[in-house]
Amino acid sequence: MKIKHLSKDHAVSGQMQPDDLRAIAALGFRTVICNRPDNEDDAQPHSSAMAEAAQAVGLRFVHLPVNSPDDIDDSSLAKFNDIMADSEAPVLAYCRSGMRAATFWALSKNGIEATATLIKAVESAGHSTDKLRERLQPDVADTPTTTASRSPKASYDVVIVGGGAGGIATASSILKRNPKLNVAIIEPTEEHYYQPGWTMVGGGIFTPQKTMRKMTRVMPKHVTWIKDSVTAFNPDANSVALSDNTHIGYQVLVASPGIKLNWDAIDGLSDTLGSNGVTSNYSIRYAPYTWELVQNLRSGKAVFTQPPMPIKCAGAPQKAMYLSCNHWERQGRLKDIKVSFHNAGPVLFGVSDYVPALESYVKRYHIDLNFKQTLVAVDGPAKKAWFDVNGGEKRIEVDFDMLHVCPAQSAPDFVRNSALANEAGWIEVSPETLQHTRFPNVFGLGDACSTPNAKTAAAVRKQAPVVAQNVSDYLAQRPLTASYDGYGSCPLTVERGKVVLAEFGYGGKLLPSAPAWLLDGTKPSRLAWILKADLLPSIYFDAMLKGREWFAAPGKLQSTKKNGSN
Ligand code: FAD
Repeated sequence: MKIKHLSKDHAVSGQMQPDDLRAIAALGFRTVICNRPDNEDDAQPHSSAMAEAAQAVGLRFVHLPVNSPDDIDDSSLAKFNDIMADSEAPVLAYCRSGMRAATFWALSKNGIEATATLIKAVESAGHSTDKLRERLQPDVADTPTTTASRSPKASYDVVIVGGGAGGIATASSILKRNPKLNVAIIEPTEEHYYQPGWTMVGGGIFTPQKTMRKMTRVMPKHVTWIKDSVTAFNPDANSVALSDNTHIGYQVLVASPGIKLNWDAIDGLSDTLGSNGVTSNYSIRYAPYTWELVQNLRSGKAVFTQPPMPIKCAGAPQKAMYLSCNHWERQGRLKDIKVSFHNAGPVLFGVSDYVPALESYVKRYHIDLNFKQTLVAVDGPAKKAWFDVNGGEKRIEVDFDMLHVCPAQSAPDFVRNSALANEAGWIEVSPETLQHTRFPNVFGLGDACSTPNAKTAAAVRKQAPVVAQNVSDYLAQRPLTASYDGYGSCPLTVERGKVVLAEFGYGGKLLPSAPAWLLDGTKPSRLAWILKADLLPSIYFDAMLKGREWFAAPGKLQSTKKNGSN
């Protein structure tokens, strides 16, 4: 049996015997995965014999059989990712030759590590990559069609600022309506994240990889990707400025640059975040640390914070807390852990219909609720946090063993300082049409906008088709026809396996997607958990970002507005 390393923490081999496992443990491996179905040939030990021998030498053994590398589909890959998330490294995976094991590893890294690196690792382990290459996404350098060389003063029919949830979904929906349009997205980063999945990473349910795609993979075909940052809007000149001071012109601008996380507004936070028990699910860099802390905390004080509104996903600070409490409850540790929630706002959740269900979990987990308390400073090594109470009437000191922080949030600076901003700094658009109130060829959606909806990807799912329709109307010089009702949704993960599914529109009006007999959002439900854990990631990546407007057809504007007016 030859062990071949694919990475520092992952190796593969051909068939091994129960007697080999002692040597494998001595080499430092912690987990063994078998990718071979039982009874493939006579000389093969049964997986139960391997499991028993592994247990005897302190190794974790997992059986994930597939018949061939070609049989590794999304479902088996998801299982592999779950196993990897739950397993201690280093991992040794085996099958008959090591090929299935190596293919699992490479596909799990698809879009996360450079394809050239994956291919090299698998080939160095002695396996052919002919078929694997077809399944791995090309590296950025191999895809010149989506990465435009920036020409100064280039101009497009539609320029979209931000390649996040709003930017990509809107581009796809616009091109569905009119494939001939010349559309560019300006986005500086190489990775696109499904941020709603970060709560699940912090809860140990998703791997970080599950929430990420390479930007090349989500960019719609025929869109020009301008890999740069916008530094200024010039709506009077119909152009935006890039970081090197060149300008990009447009007929129509769609702005969806997201929200700014103000980590530095809390004294001492940046110095300690990711260490000393201080974490946040609001960054994918730290969400895995949340899960690490939750697993390791056996007793002491766990403190969760929520800043003043508006923030993206107002329920996320609580979701982190409930999932942590649920883990400690299942482990029998909750009685030894004192949990407190410190909310800058005056209520547990902004829409009162959902509060009773949440309060029942607060009671069940014995959470100490504190309102009108705003985190202002942290000392990680001393394990102390300070909160301003009642807008600064007094300051209190709180000890912690684990601190989950949700940072204060605001419009990005280049939006706040622009002609597009309202007084509070947000892009000022009509709540119905999402057209700018002063510049008719500018539309906005997502977290950076002034509309008083819950800042969520669920809101963006409904906004993108509205913007796409109204942009099409505008370009065709027709009256705008599409209207947004303020829909937003917040799946509150109150325990592993149950979600309180808040769905509401402007003014807190409940807008449930399913009839109450099927799914009553005001009560914890298993079905809503299945939606959150199993369905929503693919609804996001495979429908919303691809312009499939399932259950998101734009509403009709009641009083038809003239093109160009609000
Ligand atoms: P984003 O998706 O953040 O995209 C903004 C893009 O703009 C980014 O790609 C950024 O790089 C780019 N950009 C920024 N500055 C510039 C610039 N100067 N020039 C060009 N591009 C720029 N939503 C839900 O619906 N359900 C949930 O359960 C949920 N849970 C959440 C949990 C957490 C922990 C977090 C952090 C968010 C959660 N959300 C949830 C919220 C959701 O992710 C956001 O509301 C959504 O991503 C907003 O989309 P957006 O396009 O406005 O911004």
